[in-house]
Amino acid sequence: MRIDVITLFPALFPGPLAESIPGRALGRGIAELHSHDLRRWGLGRHRSVDDYTYGGGAGMVLRPEPVAAALDAVRGDDGFVILMDPGGERFTQARAQDLAGRPHLVLVCPRYEGVDDRIRGMVDLELSIGDYVLSGGELPALVVIDAVLRLLPGAIDAASTGEESFVEGLLEYPQYTRPPVFRGQAVPEVLVSGDHAAVARWRREQALERTRRRRPDLLDLPAGTSGVGPTPGGRVPGAMPASTEPVRRAGRRGRGRRVDDAERWDAGNGPPDRSAG
Ligand code: SAH
Repeated sequence: MRIDVITLFPALFPGPLAESIPGRALGRGIAELHSHDLRRWGLGRHRSVDDYTYGGGAGMVLRPEPVAAALDAVRGDDGFVILMDPGGERFTQARAQDLAGRPHLVLVCPRYEGVDDRIRGMVDLELSIGDYVLSGGELPALVVIDAVLRLLPGAIDAASTGEESFVEGLLEYPQYTRPPVFRGQAVPEVLVSGDHAAVARWRREQALERTRRRRPDLLDLPAGTSGVGPTPGGRVPGAMPASTEPVRRAGRRGRGRRVDDAERWDAGNGPPDRSAG
């Protein structure tokens, strides 16, 4: 896989991607990462890339010409172009799987107030990493690239990416290592029983239970939903119709079960697991 990043701060790459799992994936040549300084395509003597916003208002906007020229130069025949944008499709594990199957990704990282709207027609997908506003698209791009790199064949043991949170539409089951007893809390007996079938059953139950308690929204998705695009409850977080093509290995979802006594992680209740263990 080839990944190109268009940014005003190329020195931010590979940054954290140089270490650990993504670092190994890049080091082994499983993927190559190139960052390009948008100023290379800037206008005039000052290589200007931004300007005031028409209609008035605070902040600067990236002009379309440098971004378009950068895309013309790096997208090639097979580049899948992604604009980092808080109004884009919410990034999910299913989308990470989809991106991991593509040969060439091009990520555009705006700064300031974002990019001239006419650029949106030139991209294949807009991605948001969550409902908050960061200062630029670089951190979101690093998040997306990290999630993708670890899914590439050879990056890590396939068994570990196959069992992680979200892959089957569930959070991961609880895990333990030594010591067998820590501050009075013992490791669940089944895990040291040596009974592999019982361990598998326990993990499945725990994954379901934890998902039910923390993220009932994951179970509420109708079976077969990819997790890409509009979320249940009528909220449409900037999903782009043009880019919601079928996603590979979307993962099975729960049975649409309703959860009434759910304690939600995101409801301000504090860690939902505080009563466990
Ligand atoms: N005025 C814009 C925000 C600009 S923030 C708005 O209200 O939508 C500057 C840039 O940071 C954005 O163009 C985008 O590239 C990036 N960015 C900020 N928050 C992001 C998020 N949650 N997900 C993806 N990109 C984000």
